[in-house]
Amino acid sequence: MVELSDLPGVGEKTAEKLRDAGFADMMRLATATAKELSVKAEIGEGVAEKVIEAARRSENIDFETALEVDERRKDVGHITVGSQEFNDLIGGGIETQSITEVFGEFGSGKSQISHELAVTVQLPEELGGLDGECVFVDTENTFRPERIRQIAEGFELDVEEVLGRIHVARAFNSSHQILMVDKINDLIQSGKNVKLVIVDSLMAHFRAEYVGRESLAVRQQKLNQHLHSLQQIANTYNVAVFITNQVQAKPDSFFGSPTKAIGGHVLGHASTYRIWLKKGLAGKRIARLVDSPHLPEGECVFKITSEGIVS
Ligand code: ADP
Repeated sequence: MVELSDLPGVGEKTAEKLRDAGFADMMRLATATAKELSVKAEIGEGVAEKVIEAARRSENIDFETALEVDERRKDVGHITVGSQEFNDLIGGGIETQSITEVFGEFGSGKSQISHELAVTVQLPEELGGLDGECVFVDTENTFRPERIRQIAEGFELDVEEVLGRIHVARAFNSSHQILMVDKINDLIQSGKNVKLVIVDSLMAHFRAEYVGRESLAVRQQKLNQHLHSLQQIANTYNVAVFITNQVQAKPDSFFGSPTKAIGGHVLGHASTYRIWLKKGLAGKRIARLVDSPHLPEGECVFKITSEGIVS
């Protein structure tokens, strides 16, 4: 295995800076940008470029044949949402190496699905999990251990054990949110088998802090950087990323949906799967897959019960 100090131009001092900034892992280095590395590790951009270049060489990051891509896709794991129809709609559950976004109005079930996944990721593979741990980035103080308890009991799991494998990060503003996501790298490198990262809700702080048209460009730039970090975690460690998003009313819409997800094109392009949640009759919820690279659009109905999501 290649060590940091084996990279050309990296002495013990630079290696230490890289390690302290969370870049101990070769793949993490290889997928960084020079700008990011120079800011976080406090090294010159020229050095950063050379280090990244060397890490890419050591990780063999180059063109891949479709056969190799196919081989990598075989590592993709799925996490059950709790309902068979819902899983079928999205190709077998929430996917690793991807960002899955759910958006919908207040009370449509976004946080409930987040809690469900925080439990189901811990199930063994034959039951629809990945036997992994979860990071829950909570921006609106919606995380409830009581809910986890109920759902875990529904699966007849050891509740204390389940709670112990969910790492909750309360994010107080958008900068803190970005920082907490960067820290996930440290958590994984310290040996935690994280297989799912949840950000509930992704846009709340960004929306509140960047008000008005003049701040939109800065907001989108920050958001882009944040989503890039999330995608990098997904790819580097074969992790599933699940984000929840709010909607805004489109009063002028004549055709199509009267609501749309916020976050603009930056978020639209970053999410691999986009699911629109709607409230139906008699407590039912409707999930509509609106964007996916290889699955058709479609809908399913699900319910939220005290034991979690069911068909
Ligand atoms: P949001 O989309 O705003 O995140 P939530 O995921 O918090 O919405 O969904 C809230 C809804 O979930 C509530 O309106 C309620 O119908 C349902 N719900 C919450 N807790 C329970 C529970 N313990 N048992 C059954 N349904 C619940």
